[in-house]
Amino acid sequence: MTYSISATKLQAYHRCAYAYYLRYERKLTSPDFYGSAALGNALHQALAKCHRDWHYRNPRPDLRWVHHCWDEHANGLTDHQVVEGRAILERYYWGFIANEVALRQPLAVEGKIQGYLRVADLEFSLVGRYDRLDFLPDGLELIDYKSGREVKLPDAAAMDIQIGLYYLALAQTYHQSLKYLSLLFLRSGQKVQFAATPQHQEHVQAIISDLAVKLRHDRGWEPQPGKQCDRCTFARYCPAVTANPAIVPETKRKPQLQLALNFA
Ligand code: SF4
Repeated sequence: MTYSISATKLQAYHRCAYAYYLRYERKLTSPDFYGSAALGNALHQALAKCHRDWHYRNPRPDLRWVHHCWDEHANGLTDHQVVEGRAILERYYWGFIANEVALRQPLAVEGKIQGYLRVADLEFSLVGRYDRLDFLPDGLELIDYKSGREVKLPDAAAMDIQIGLYYLALAQTYHQSLKYLSLLFLRSGQKVQFAATPQHQEHVQAIISDLAVKLRHDRGWEPQPGKQCDRCTFARYCPAVTANPAIVPETKRKPQLQLALNFA
């Protein structure tokens, strides 16, 4: 059995080991998720079709192809959302397709990140998802579409972890280096590109090694107070910010992590 680790989990661990422990090891739930993202999902699906299903023997689609992709995925949306989504995709077309000599065929769309790391006799499977993976002359570019109203960038520490995890996993799958992780904000038409380096990978390996030690001994989950505490849903259990913290309730813990078998 391997221990599954995603960028989201690793970012949470880096912010605070204790909050990580409560959420992922003790399985305390945190009600901080939000509702439907029907328009965003439809946009992602339409863009996946646009880049995946284009007949690449023709260099570049015209706007009708984008409209066709949208019409296939706009079912179930309100009239307002259908109009809004169409306008967003038209902006995308004029910003990212119309001026290209030819549409670049992606390596994959809507793909899974899958990698593997063994640290201190523990096996980690690295997991994640991406919207599009492009093959550049000197490496890979991973593209994530953002459909929210705000152009909101993740903080630098979170971004570095995401880049490092993807760098590690994609190198194993494609034997190519990740060159860029790009966020493409569909509503504003902005693309923000982050350069990826081997140092990102080393940083992530160091964090996973640190996590491995705690998992192995099931101790050392110390609170790390900081600005994240203001929004922490576990503050009432936390001795770093609460004078008389509540007792952590018993929850159904997942089976203990198994040590990897050493065949060497
Ligand atoms: S309140 Fe702060 S220190 Fe305590 S668990 Fe949450 S993030 Fe960690």
